[in-house]
Amino acid sequence: MRFESLKTVSTRKNFIAKDKSVSFTELFNSNVFDDSAMRDFLSREAYESVSNSIKNGKTINRKMAEHVASGMKRWALSKGATHYTHWFQPLTGSTAEKHDSFFEPENGKAVEKFTAGALVQQEPDASSLPSGGLRNTFEARGYTAWDPSSPAFIYENTAGKTLCIPTVFVSYNGEALDYKAPLLKSLNLVDKAATDICKYFLKKVSSCTASLGIEQEYFLVDEAMYQARPDLVMCGRTLVGHAPAKGQQMDDHYFGSIPDRVFNYMYDLEVEAAKIGIPLKTRHNEVAPGQYECAPMFEDVNLAVDHNQLLMDLMDEVAKRHHFRVLLHEKPFAGINGSGKHNNWSLITNTGVNLLSPGSDPNSNLLFLTIFINTIKALHDNSDIIRASIASASNDHRLGANEAPPAIISAFIGSKLTQVLNAFLKDSTAEDTDEKKSINIDKIPEILRDNTDRNRTSPFAFTGNKFELRAVGSSTNSAQPMTALNTAVANQLIQFKANVDAGVTKGKDLKKTIVLELKKVLKDAQNILFEGNNYSEEWAKEAKKRGLSNIKNTPESLKAYISKQAIDTFVKNGIFTKEELHARYEIMLEDYMKKIQIEGRVLGEIAYSYVLPPAIEYLTVVATNIRTLKEAGIKVGKAQKELVQAIAEHIDMVKTKTDKMVESRKKANNLQDTEKQAISYHFDVKESFDDIRYHMDKLEQLVDDKIWQLPKYRELLFLR
Ligand code: ADP
Ligand code: MG
Repeated sequence: MRFESLKTVSTRKNFIAKDKSVSFTELFNSNVFDDSAMRDFLSREAYESVSNSIKNGKTINRKMAEHVASGMKRWALSKGATHYTHWFQPLTGSTAEKHDSFFEPENGKAVEKFTAGALVQQEPDASSLPSGGLRNTFEARGYTAWDPSSPAFIYENTAGKTLCIPTVFVSYNGEALDYKAPLLKSLNLVDKAATDICKYFLKKVSSCTASLGIEQEYFLVDEAMYQARPDLVMCGRTLVGHAPAKGQQMDDHYFGSIPDRVFNYMYDLEVEAAKIGIPLKTRHNEVAPGQYECAPMFEDVNLAVDHNQLLMDLMDEVAKRHHFRVLLHEKPFAGINGSGKHNNWSLITNTGVNLLSPGSDPNSNLLFLTIFINTIKALHDNSDIIRASIASASNDHRLGANEAPPAIISAFIGSKLTQVLNAFLKDSTAEDTDEKKSINIDKIPEILRDNTDRNRTSPFAFTGNKFELRAVGSSTNSAQPMTALNTAVANQLIQFKANVDAGVTKGKDLKKTIVLELKKVLKDAQNILFEGNNYSEEWAKEAKKRGLSNIKNTPESLKAYISKQAIDTFVKNGIFTKEELHARYEIMLEDYMKKIQIEGRVLGEIAYSYVLPPAIEYLTVVATNIRTLKEAGIKVGKAQKELVQAIAEHIDMVKTKTDKMVESRKKANNLQDTEKQAISYHFDVKESFDDIRYHMDKLEQLVDDKIWQLPKYRELLFLR
């Protein structure tokens, strides 16, 4: 397989992207039932009903839904769609759909049908999707329900065109079984909480949206070599492979010129993305060889998440067209940078004010500080939940490894804002002077304009007008961390407002009360601020002193979902019920366990049938050679004997340690509850992977290259 794949790669023809002359302005949203399509295909009444639902969350009545369905159907058919599907995000991590044809036989003829019922609600046979025990088998029904705030779109692939309707997925009893339902709740919550705060400062604000721009990192490898690696095919990452002589130490890949073949891929991806309204804006090489990044313009969180999920599907599909495979795993190659998905988040009012961007006067700067400081406090109080919201078997390789933000959650705000906050806290006269003088808040915009501080090591970094949650893994559904962040911030803003209002009721001045309360909040939250190198050992020590958590593995970090803090944050605010939290906990543990289980199995197969056979073959060659030399009376040097010795020892180690790992897996499988299984899979099974790998990688270096079966790192990373 290896040599065939190398031959294939060396004779690959460049796949030239089609439609090089397309106009992106024409393409953009051409497959989306967007505002202009709705105007064209809906009656005025139906159009207004949908707009009202999008803008104000008003429900669409049955009669109007009937009109919308009929308009949507006409639009989709005019675009050549043949099927429709409810598109949703179950807790498997990927997207789900079940297609129905528009055509139905009626009196011997085929007619195209799409009713309000089919638009608004469906009952997919989804009993095999994870529910964490929320659905008993006798009521295994789950429902998908239309989310009008994310427009329907037509997904096009070689098999045809399908009308996709974004939906939430809930159980018979209404419990959320997906990522979108709680996300929408959290967005409503943070909208209301932030709007209430805004009213202190800006009377005209009537709503706030959380915005999100997702930077997506990924690797591309050639399809032929991908197929020759069982670990890539089954686990999305390499389980073995010696580091190449040249890795990323030359820093020559980052922002370098994009290889032609990759460029064509990116172009095609952008074309497909534009059609369904994903506003891709940037593309470039990333740090590691074979690693790239793309990022869209930011959008409302709900849309940004849907678009990112779609983007990942598209990346996969377009890559295949170019005979590439896209790797979205957080750590496809050991010793080489992993991939993240930076979530840039802020809050924007309906009047267009970015609440994380300081304004031009003290009033708006105090508003900025209010949102800013409360966000930091929200992170402080909910750091374990945020950590859990990005936990996965694959992201464990990044968090705490030497290139991604660590498992310790902290916030970076830059030296200038640190100074501002310090001055703000120190000033004991704030109660007497006006808030403008006491904190110098009129100067913040100027300060920030020159503030170019960046900290690539921070999990949560302020970047001038937004926070960037950098710890999210490249394959993660961002809905999960965004639900946590929105809820945490909303919860904090609600408490803050209650305290301010209590002060005002007692007759205190509003602005002074706000300043005073902010100081209290900041004091409580301060120990989560960290400006230094998050990757350093000193920080781990310092963080420990500060009492910050450093939970390095998924099973332990997931406990935050069933902690008291989770009840206070999520349950109290109606985002999750206690049962839903437990279900999610269970599902995520199971997901973790299954992933490690699969890796363990694949590692076993690789050891026994990919690595040991050539190693033994080569060992025999060298040993035979020694014997032949001896028989011929030729002196055999020490080095050759050492070579045989080393190969034999590594072979022994691989076999012994793999056997042991298989045993540990059996033990873990026999444990009774999911929590124990996940923990055992982590400590007893997964912990041995690196050790087994060490010996296999040694063998890779010793064994004759021409009998080695697995494409090597050098080939995977550099050939295209
Ligand atoms: P940076 O250089 O800080 O990474 P970019 O301009 O490249 O900033 O933006 C990164 C991502 O952040 C993009 O997706 C961008 O649209 C998004 N972004 C910019 N402003 C905001 C905002 N106010 N809210 C959310 N995302 C934003
Ligand atoms: Mg960035």
